[in-house]
Amino acid sequence: MRTAVVLFTRDLRVHDNPALAEACERAETVIPLYVLDPKLGGLSANRSRFLHQSLADLRGQLRERGGDLVVRTGDPVAETIRLAREHEAGAIHVAADVSGYARRRERRLAGERDLRVHPGVTVVDPGALRPGGGGECYKVFTPYYRSWSQATWRQQASTPDRITLPEGVDPGRLPDIPDGESPHAAEGGETLGHRRLSAWLLSIDAYADGHDDMPGDRTSRLSPYLRWGCLSPLSVAEAARARNAEAFVRQLCWRDFYYQVTRVFPKLSTEPLRPAGDRGWRYDEDALRHWQDGLTGVPVVDAGMRQLRAEGWMHNRARLITAAFLTKHLGVDWRLGLDWFFRWLIDGDVPNNSGNWQWVAGTGNDSRPHRRFNPIRQALRFDPEGVYVRRYVPELKGIDGPAVHQPWRLPGTERRGLDYPGPLESQRDEAVWLRP
Ligand SMILES: Cc1cc2nc3c(=O)[nH]c(=O)nc-3n(C[C@H](O)[C@H](O)[C@H](O)COP(=O)(O)OP(=O)(O)OC[C@H]3O[C@@H](n4cnc5c(N)ncnc54)[C@H](O)[C@@H]3O)c2cc1C
Repeated sequence: MRTAVVLFTRDLRVHDNPALAEACERAETVIPLYVLDPKLGGLSANRSRFLHQSLADLRGQLRERGGDLVVRTGDPVAETIRLAREHEAGAIHVAADVSGYARRRERRLAGERDLRVHPGVTVVDPGALRPGGGGECYKVFTPYYRSWSQATWRQQASTPDRITLPEGVDPGRLPDIPDGESPHAAEGGETLGHRRLSAWLLSIDAYADGHDDMPGDRTSRLSPYLRWGCLSPLSVAEAARARNAEAFVRQLCWRDFYYQVTRVFPKLSTEPLRPAGDRGWRYDEDALRHWQDGLTGVPVVDAGMRQLRAEGWMHNRARLITAAFLTKHLGVDWRLGLDWFFRWLIDGDVPNNSGNWQWVAGTGNDSRPHRRFNPIRQALRFDPEGVYVRRYVPELKGIDGPAVHQPWRLPGTERRGLDYPGPLESQRDEAVWLRP
């Protein structure tokens, strides 16, 4: 075959990219394409910035190999077909994805050209594993993890040495990198993703014991690079497995788990998986705003919410605490929290954000949906000296040691964190201190 188009979506890399590798093996000339879809203009400023940084890096990687990233703006399907026709491309290669949007794109492309859909967004294909007793996907994590661990993983795809564009293709201009909202957000791109991965692998042994250490910040921070495909999840999982870092590999399995759920329940961000858990939410704008602003008066919750704004990222333990505080303590609808996370997270995506919010809210895949987190007890356990809280809540910098976890008075009001109604009140005897 003379020419093939590779439509990049959220696989913004040249290493272990099966779509790119196969196109380069089979065709003489290849058009690597990214289509900026104005309909996705709603992408948050933080994610838009990370995306554009990643596209600039991808263009650099492709140019180093003699090719280029061809950039168009418009409907991705129409633009892909137009380019394929102009250059008489016989095949279009794309990575399989699980969202409704991605699957509509695949269906429309398949009607036009020889469409080759490739793995690469997850470690194991989302449709590959089915529970024994029937059902289209696993709804409980542990059996999925067992089956996922025993599955044969695909071979990594080779990285093309050379990419040849057909004559006369206008590469198009990449727009300037837009501003994000979070001053300390990580920067995008495959090059930085590899750098972070290499550094991370040096300390991966500490993950099993250290991943909940909030001030120690001992998780990989690879999530945005995985979300945008700057890193191949398979290559990350294999590198971790080679170092026997099973606790870390298990977290990558959680990622795959939510993808296979989303494949079957594409409305995961709006509809409860377990409708019985989706009742009686409060719509308290005041409480929601305090939560969003990091002004609930519960220090560890406020620290997490401020980390989110500052970095476009939040420690997993803080995500659990803040999401549980909103849903189980304030009783506010999980969809409002999910939207707020989407606005700020650079790693925000439908499967992981929605799956985790539903897990915490008790509408999703948690086998103990009535589980509660006491934020103060969590704080004392995972930030025992209050270092994490003081890092993000400057108002509390003067308070030494664990005393910083006591609820604080909201500026300008008589209200303190625990003055909100909610089940935490009944847990006072367990760990909650009230300042005299
Ligand atoms: C309410 C809530 C919302 C979340 N929203 C997102 C989201 O939008 N995008 C996202 O990638 N993760 C989300 N997570 C999961 C998790 O918090 C992040 O993946 C993790 O904090 C990213 O940091 P890391 O890369 O340092 O993780 P590490 O601990 O180093 O883990 C390695 C990788 O495993 C995956 N992973 C880890 N924990 C989970 C998990 N619970 N579920 C799914 N995958 C996981 C991620 O890809 C992560 O990069 C959410 C968790 C909660 C509780």
